[in-house]
This record gives sequence, structure tokens and C-alpha cells, in this order.
Amino acid sequence: MNHKRIALVTGANQGVGLQLTRELVADGVTVLLGSRNLARGEAAAQEIGPGAIPIQIDVTDLASIAAAAARIRDEFGRLDLLVNNAGISNTREGTVTMAEFATTSGASIVSLDEVRGIWETNVFGVLAVYQAMLPLLRLSSDARIVNVSSGVGSLGANADPSFPYRAIYAPGYAASKTALNGITLAMMIELENTAIKVNLVSPGFTSTALNNFEGVETLEEGSREVVRVARLGPDGPTNTFTQWDGQTIPW
Ligand code: NAP
Repeated sequence: MNHKRIALVTGANQGVGLQLTRELVADGVTVLLGSRNLARGEAAAQEIGPGAIPIQIDVTDLASIAAAAARIRDEFGRLDLLVNNAGISNTREGTVTMAEFATTSGASIVSLDEVRGIWETNVFGVLAVYQAMLPLLRLSSDARIVNVSSGVGSLGANADPSFPYRAIYAPGYAASKTALNGITLAMMIELENTAIKVNLVSPGFTSTALNNFEGVETLEEGSREVVRVARLGPDGPTNTFTQWDGQTIPW
């Protein structure tokens, strides 16, 4: 039996997922570094070192998710931490600046195919990974699920006209995070009489590919809350939705 903590981080070959993996590995956690493109995952894992183990997982592909779950069961026998981090902001080819994103994502003009594509990854992808990995989390004595959402998906925050990101609330990315919050609440309710903990978390507005590197926080700074929550031990809280530093986000 492997006594090291075993984690799976989806979308870990770059951005927040990569930063989280780096910090968990430094803590001594064995991290399955999820990547839809195995070569990119292998390159990222090599950069981090032996505690990072690349694993192919495309959250929109049920066969890929099932294969990842089977491999984790065979090689590790359980999962202690699942971080549903993979996400997309749009489905367009090439660079999309934040300004273009803001002017082309509105409810009256956004393409339905794009909305479906974003939701496929950010909402249904998380549900599919949850369903596949839950049996492995049930085999852990200290299991936690961390879903990476965004403050821009908060209905409570957006209900306030002074909320600074309100102008970008649209059916694609932001509403997909609202839906993710709903699905996470369903997980929390389903698991509340078990030992499995569930947390919802938002990184800061971080410079990553997701926002054309226009985010204002560095990868290290912007990932801090995700890292803090993923590190929580058996006595750490469950059912929270937070941003740095533990500040509650309204649902
Ligand atoms: P990122 O650098 O673009 O990373 C996103 C990761 O998700 C990449 O590894 C990407 O893989 C992966 N991914 C996309 N579709 C996938 C799929 N179908 N299956 C598996 N992996 C997939 O963006 P990030 O900013 O680190 O985003 C991480 C999470 O933080 C997302 O959930 C995002 O919504 C959330 N978030 C980010 C910010 C921010 O300011 N950056 C703010 C709030 C919330 P490829 O490399 O193959 O594309």
C-alpha cells in the first residue's frame, strides 16, 4: 500500500493546474498530472520531477476518463485528492484577446456551438470525472474533491451592479462556472454523510492561456487559494466556496 497522498489534477500541463502540481509534489504528494495531450503532460511532468506522473485524460472523452480511472486503481489502489481544474474560456482557433472575448460572447450573439463546447468541458467534463473517480475516492481514508470554478460565475456577486466582472457575465464561460457551482452543490449534498470533503475554489485573475495571458496575477500568486484548499488535511473544512485568502464567495 502506498502511504503517500495520491492526487489527480486535470488540465495540469500548464497554468494553475501545473502550478498546483508543482507545489503538491514539493509537499511530497504523488500527483497524477492530467493532460489531454500526453506529450504535453510528459514534458510538464519531466520539468517537475519524479513525484509528477503524467496521465492522459480528456474530460470530454468518457473512454479516456475510464482508462485513467482503471490505471489509478491498478497502480495506486485509491485516490485521495481529485482536483477538477481543466477548463476552457472559448472554443475558437488562435488567440482571442479579452477585448474580443467581451464583445463576442454576449447572450444575443454567441454561437450555441461555442456555448455547448465550453459547457462540455467545464460542466459535463467535471461531472463525468467525478462519476469515474468517486469509487476510488471512497477507498481513501482522507478524500477531498476540489472543483476549480471562478468568481465570475457567482450569481450572488453578479447580482450586485458594482461587481467589476459583471460586464463579462455571458452564457459561455461565466455561466458554465455557475452551472459547475450547481453541480458541485449536488456533489456536496450527495456526499455530506460520508467522509469525502468537497470544496469549490476560484483562482485570482491569473495570467494564463485561458485569458490570453492578460490576467493580472502571476501564476504563483493567482493559484494560491487553489493550492491552500488542495492542501487541507482531514480536519479542514468542506462545502466551502472561496477565493484568496479563504474569503467566501457568494454562490
Ligand atoms: P490554462 O492555462 O488554459 O489551463 C487549462 C488547462 O485545462 C490546460 O491544461 C488545458 O489543456 C486543459 N484542458 C482544456 N480542455 C480540456 C479537456 N477537454 N480535457 C482535459 N484538459 C483540458 O488555464 P488556467 O487559467 O490555468 O485554468 C485552470 C482553471 O482555472 C480553469 O478551470 C479556469 O476556468 C479556472 N480559472 C482561471 C482563472 C484565471 O484568471 N486564469 C480565473 C478563474 C478561474 P491544453 O494545454 O491541452 O489546452
